[in-house]
Amino acid sequence: MSLFTHPEFDGHERVLFAHDPASGLKAIVAIHSTRLGPAAGGCRMWPYASEEEALADALRLSRGMTYKNAVAGLDLGGGKSVIIADPRTQKTPELLRAFGRAVHDLGGTYVTAEDVGVSVADMEIVREATPHVAGLETGAHASGDPSPVTARGVFEGMRKALLVATGSDDVAGRTIAVQGLGHVGRHLCALLHAAGARLVVSDIDPARVADAERAFDARAVAPDAIATVAADVFAPCALGGVLDDATIPRLKARIVAGAANNQLARPEHADALHARGILYVPDFALNAGGIINVAREIEGRTDAGWLTETLGAMVANIETILREAAERGVSPNGVAEAFARRRLA
Ligand code: NAD
Repeated sequence: MSLFTHPEFDGHERVLFAHDPASGLKAIVAIHSTRLGPAAGGCRMWPYASEEEALADALRLSRGMTYKNAVAGLDLGGGKSVIIADPRTQKTPELLRAFGRAVHDLGGTYVTAEDVGVSVADMEIVREATPHVAGLETGAHASGDPSPVTARGVFEGMRKALLVATGSDDVAGRTIAVQGLGHVGRHLCALLHAAGARLVVSDIDPARVADAERAFDARAVAPDAIATVAADVFAPCALGGVLDDATIPRLKARIVAGAANNQLARPEHADALHARGILYVPDFALNAGGIINVAREIEGRTDAGWLTETLGAMVANIETILREAAERGVSPNGVAEAFARRRLA
């Protein structure tokens, strides 16, 4: 396994491999950049098939956080951590505390929070070992579960995409295909349902599918069918890499706008979507609501209007990116990346 020559290595400042035999912790913390401030990004717990897969995920996700925080206008750098474990069977308080000690050793250059497989309650346990954690339920500036704010940002950003692509931002009567009914996906479905959208949903967990059928009158399809169902918008809200050589030629949606990180299997898939006339809203620009919510806690903000204002600016920025891309006839992904690079420079 290589690091400095790894295809996903992008000048990362620091990569920590943390092992605690007593609790069974095997974790990787990747700090991509602290140029704009302490690296902030969630912790993902996933039963990765290999250490290589976990390292690739940590490197890619942490780079994505640098861009996400930069585009969202936050004074935070990019970092991310992954714990190689099955959250349903291997998550223990000892393991979470050992992870907290590893984060603590980084001296505040990395601040952790929730991601896939990790809950607010888990972060409360991590806090027993380090103060460099956010997304907490209790404490002076506790911001709690970031996913409702992420979902709100995705919902509003999706409306901007509809506006740019169709001339109307109304979701009523539109068909939206939501992949993944976890923290963000379920909140997004609730917002879309309340606004009158028709939902097609999928999850690998049948209980979550049954819940969405009941609560949102959603139509369920198999996990391998959701990306290519007939819909106005495809909203990936599960894991990354869903937009690839196999799915892009078969997509029926005119817009892709979802919460999942790293939706493009490879960077050039942004151009493949553009070539097919599909409007892709860059994931790192669209799903920043959660980190904005977390930033409020990290920075100890007390001004009540800051969250709404910053989320509003994020959503307005999405429209600017999509319009600039349309005017120049290019993929919005490159426009958003250039925007982030300007801030980093
Ligand atoms: P989560 O773990 O709560 O939910 C993920 C859901 O996806 C689960 O219900 C899981 O069963 C389902 N899933 C997994 N593989 C699937 C497949 N092949 N097909 C259909 N469903 C599948 O995670 P979350 O917090 O809701 O995050 C979802 C995505 O959004 C992740 O990529 C995450 O990195 C990203 N994200 C989350 C936040 C946040 O605030 N939680 C913020 C920014 C980005």
